[in-house]
Amino acid sequence: MAWPNIKGTVVLKASNGADEERALLFAAEILKKGGLVAFPTETVYGLGGDALNPGAVQNIYQVKQRPPDNPLIIHVTGMDQAARLVKEIPPEAFLLAENFWPGPLTMVLPKKDLVPDITTAGLSSAAIRVPAHLLARKLIHAAGVPLAAPSANLSGRPSPTTAGHVLEDLAGRIEAVLDGGSCSVGVESTVLSMLPGIPALLRPGGITLEMLEDVLKRKVLDLTIEGKGGVFKGAPPSPGMKYRHYAPRAPLYLVVGDYPAQRKQLVALTESFLMQGRKVALLLSRESAGICPAPVLRVLGSREKPAQIAKRLFAVLREMDLLEVDVIVVEGFDEQGMGRAVMNRLRKAAAEIISTDGKDSTW
Ligand code: AMP
Ligand code: MG
Repeated sequence: MAWPNIKGTVVLKASNGADEERALLFAAEILKKGGLVAFPTETVYGLGGDALNPGAVQNIYQVKQRPPDNPLIIHVTGMDQAARLVKEIPPEAFLLAENFWPGPLTMVLPKKDLVPDITTAGLSSAAIRVPAHLLARKLIHAAGVPLAAPSANLSGRPSPTTAGHVLEDLAGRIEAVLDGGSCSVGVESTVLSMLPGIPALLRPGGITLEMLEDVLKRKVLDLTIEGKGGVFKGAPPSPGMKYRHYAPRAPLYLVVGDYPAQRKQLVALTESFLMQGRKVALLLSRESAGICPAPVLRVLGSREKPAQIAKRLFAVLREMDLLEVDVIVVEGFDEQGMGRAVMNRLRKAAAEIISTDGKDSTW
């Protein structure tokens, strides 16, 4: 049976073991020849290409329209493959790998010359991770090479958490997508610098700051809070930090601050947009769901369970494009645990951040 094909992009969907094997072989052949295949990971879908082939990596940047100074994460099957790509793995990185690999933790380490400059956008370090998703690991194994894989979306758009999302952005631009259903985490991996010095969080994600500090038994520097008088000045420590991301087409207004005041502000803002005759989408927690009617209302999850919110977030943002809403109003969440990853994505997606306590500003 031939695989279905959308605008030239082959959709590899396996319903049994034999099909899966065939899909993996097909995808691996493409990757070995320098082609591109989108594949599921537990975080979001990745746009995979041979990390050691500069031509394939060049195509990743081109297909995604990704700025050339934003380096890629290299996905490997385990510590052995990681060790071939980096000059050294400090004991603390080993400890983190033991605890969180395979899983949504990316570590930045000094790269060997074997890793082409284009993969790391000219940096002397490389970002490495071992995905937990079984299909992802089987694919890297079958391809026999480490895979550079940024999120499989057009740059700036919400990351894809289903094969359908990948096709929305990239059908006709890549050779194939491996369909593994919905991603379980829903936001990208945590990026942690393990270069000499204090371990530094460069992007909050599936492994929380608290989990990292718990294992390391020491403080991790949080470099991700740039919008709130954060630690770094001048050039960002991770190039991806400076880009607006994850944005749906309609302007997104994020309301942050003390919860009761925040609810009042959410209602006031929604009502004022409604009075202007705009098609408003209101994205709320379960706890706030009844506060105000709106033409489009989506419950993201409970305030108590930010991991639930993370899992749904990008799919809901993409749905807003399909519904052609005029404006999106979103409740802000506590920035602890997975709440940090959720709020990092929302801040970067926001056209404006409205604070009820005057402490915040646009990112
Ligand atoms: P994405 O591929 O969209 O998941 O984004 C990868 C993220 O990892 C971006 O924010 C990059 O800036 C960051 N990153 C990748 N490689 C490095 C590196 N060598 N040093 C610092 N940040 C990196
Ligand atoms: Mg991305």
